[in-house]
Formats: sequence, C-alpha cells, structure tokens
Amino acid sequence: MIAKLVQTALRGMIEANRAICRIPIARDVMKRAMKSGEAVIPFEPHIPANSDGVCVYINVPFCRSKCTYCYLNTSIYTEERAKPYVEAVKREISLYKAKLGDIELGDVYFRGGTPSILWEGVIDILDHLRSNFKIAGEIGVKVYPGDVNEEMCDALLDAGVSRVNIGVQSFDDELLKGMNKRYDGDTAIKAIELLVDKGFYTTTKLLIGCPGQTVSSVSSDLKKVIETDLQQIYTLPLLILPNTAWGVQLAKGKIEFPPAREVVEMWRTTFDLLLSNGYETRAALYFKNKKALGEREYLTGHGHPFVIGMGVETESTVPPTLTGYANTFSFEEYIKAVNEDRFPVMMGVSILNQRQLENIYRLAGLLLGIDGKDVERRLNVLMDPNLYTDLRIDKEEFEERTGAKTEEVLGNLSFLIPFLLFPLKALRIIEEDSEKIKINTDVINRIVA
Ligand code: SF4
Repeated sequence: MIAKLVQTALRGMIEANRAICRIPIARDVMKRAMKSGEAVIPFEPHIPANSDGVCVYINVPFCRSKCTYCYLNTSIYTEERAKPYVEAVKREISLYKAKLGDIELGDVYFRGGTPSILWEGVIDILDHLRSNFKIAGEIGVKVYPGDVNEEMCDALLDAGVSRVNIGVQSFDDELLKGMNKRYDGDTAIKAIELLVDKGFYTTTKLLIGCPGQTVSSVSSDLKKVIETDLQQIYTLPLLILPNTAWGVQLAKGKIEFPPAREVVEMWRTTFDLLLSNGYETRAALYFKNKKALGEREYLTGHGHPFVIGMGVETESTVPPTLTGYANTFSFEEYIKAVNEDRFPVMMGVSILNQRQLENIYRLAGLLLGIDGKDVERRLNVLMDPNLYTDLRIDKEEFEERTGAKTEEVLGNLSFLIPFLLFPLKALRIIEEDSEKIKINTDVINRIVA
C-alpha cells in the first residue's frame, strides 16, 4: 500500500516537472531569476566568533562543454577567464581570514563546474587556504572523467585530497552524446578504476530518467559501476529546468523522455541491484564500507549545517542564528567585489542576532526548567549530524555531551518524549535498548522499495 502511494507520488512529480517546462513563459521566468542573482549588495556575513569546524566549499564555474540538462551558471573554460578567477577566490579567502581569525576548518570541497579542468589552480587555492587556516577535515574535489590521469591524481594526493566525486551520469555512449559530454563510457570506467586504485574515496553520480534511457541501460550502467568496486553512488532523478537545452527541446516537442512509469521502474531496479550487491542506502545515496563513510557523507557540501561557500553562485548557512546568504551569480561582479575587498554577496538574511538568540535560550530554559546555557548546549549537540552517524544514538555519548539522559533532554517537558516516540516505535521505525536508540533501516528500505 505505502509502496504504491510512493510510486504514484513519484510519477506525479516526474510529470509535473515535465509540464513546467512546457509552460510558454517558464524559460523567461527562469532566465530573469538567474539574472536577479547577479547583483552584489552590502551584506556582512554574520558568523559566530568561534567557528571551528566550519566546512568550506569552493565553486569552480568552468566546463569543457555545456551539458544539455545543466542549469548551473557555468562558462566554457579558457585560461584568460580561469586565471583571474583563481586569484579572486584567493582574495575571498583572505577576506574570510580577516573576519574569522585563527579558526580550524572542517571539510573542504571543490565543486563545479569542473574543478579538475584547472587542477593546478585548485592546488594553488588549497595552498592559500592552508596558509590562512588549519584544515582539520578532509579535502574533496569534483572531477570530470576526461581529465583523470596519473599526473592529476598524484598531484591531488600530494596536496592532501582524499575524496573525489566523479560525475559520470551514464556509461552508455549514445546517452553521453545526448548529454553533450566530452567522454565515452570506457573513458569513464578507466577513470573510476584509476581513482579507486590510487586510494581516493570515490563517489560517482548516475542520472535516472534521461531521453533514450531504458530499464536495461540503467541496469547495464549499474553492473559496470559495481565491477569497479567504488565506494559511493548517487543515483539522481533528472530534473529538467526550462532554461536548459533539454527543457527548450521539451517545450518545442522535439525530444522524448521515458514514460514516468518506466522511470519509477528504473528506480526500483537501481535499489534492488545495488542492495543485492552489498551496497547500503540512505535515500538516493548508496554506499559500501560504512566505516569509511562515517560522518563524512556530508563532504560533497550538501547537508552540513554550517557551511561557507566561496566563489560565484555559492550559498552559506550559519547556525544557530539562522543566517543564510548567497554569492553573486555573475562572474564579473564577483571579481569586481573581491578586488574591492567586499564580500561578493548577492542576498542574505540573519533571522536572529546573538542577543535575540540568548533571550530565546533563556525563555526556553524557563519553560523547560533548565539553565539557558544548557538549552544552547543540548541544542548544539542535537543539531550535530555526527550524533546520528549510522542512524544510531549512543546513549552514553549523548549523556556525556548534553549533560542529560536521552529521556530527560527536554527538562520539564521530557514527559512528552514517550508520546513522540511511541508511534515510531509501534511502527518499528525506531528501536531502543539500554545502550542506543536506532532507526531501523530495514523498515525504511522496505517503504522506499
Ligand atoms: S559538467 Fe556539470 S557543471 Fe558543467 S555543464 Fe555539465 S553538468 Fe553543468
């Protein structure tokens, strides 16, 4: 019953996404939205004094060609554009150094675009980052299959990069041509093999629902990737936006996508095949060797609660003041702003300042019958994704970090916890014993399947 509902909802979402592209003004609206992202406004990022552990991701907005499904604000790589960009990112790092002081960064990730096109520039930026901050976490880089070779791998390893994300999308040559990729399936497989062989923790991304794709081509792609023994696979649904080449063709009726029913079948095949080959899953992410994954699932820059994005078209989120801001989408505005020693922010909000936040903690403390400082401490622990590694809370560790037992964490209102947990326990989604509280992944997987 639940599976049927999930499948119907999925089909509905796929059809709705395609319908949006057929609306005549959708493309113009999308273009205007992108244009509005070009401004630079005076906004001082509000970041707490001690920001140890903040993750950083850096956007490298250059590619070899424009992919037919890509909605990102990237441009074709030329040395004349890349050189000043590398220098501008280094200036932005220096602006943050003046603001953050001697803090220790968590994970660092180079996103794109295609950072591997200018891997020497990436290493230059990394050296500058290291000369300003200590990097306590891991370093990851997104790479393009056609760029992967021994020289690049060795240089990245020497620079301390331990994780790579290779966006393959498919190994089917016809599908790759349709996406306007500059590599074929064999090149992609060889690139993955080399990365795994060199010892990088390697992630790849496969797209589901592309024109010409069938259940059997998805299955063949998965079998190829399984053979490479790589550790992590994202299987992403194709989202078509009106301002992409595929979005335009769809609006003109010049391209056919697989029926939504078949796309849902592709998802089911993916799930069955990867799980029966030793992968575990969390939503669209499949991974092997859970221990190596650990808390680093967040390395690709998504999902971490405290992230600073540098470069054009990046977003930053700063808890607990609920601050969020985004850098300009415009290459020219970005270079101009940092050269004038201004943060290149296009839009930002801080819902709370430090004083408002302290008042909220104090009030919550009164309600819960605990000290306001304890509210802050417990909340910080509860928001830390590392606490939920393995989808399991270790009761002893929880008590050590929050100063309260799991059943007492809400102070006076702790009597509510059994009511909140009861339905989840009754459905066997949550299991609890004297040592841990655990989410039952088998039940979740069955629902997803
Ligand atoms: S390589 Fe990635 S970022 Fe570049 S155009 Fe293709 S999808 Fe977009």
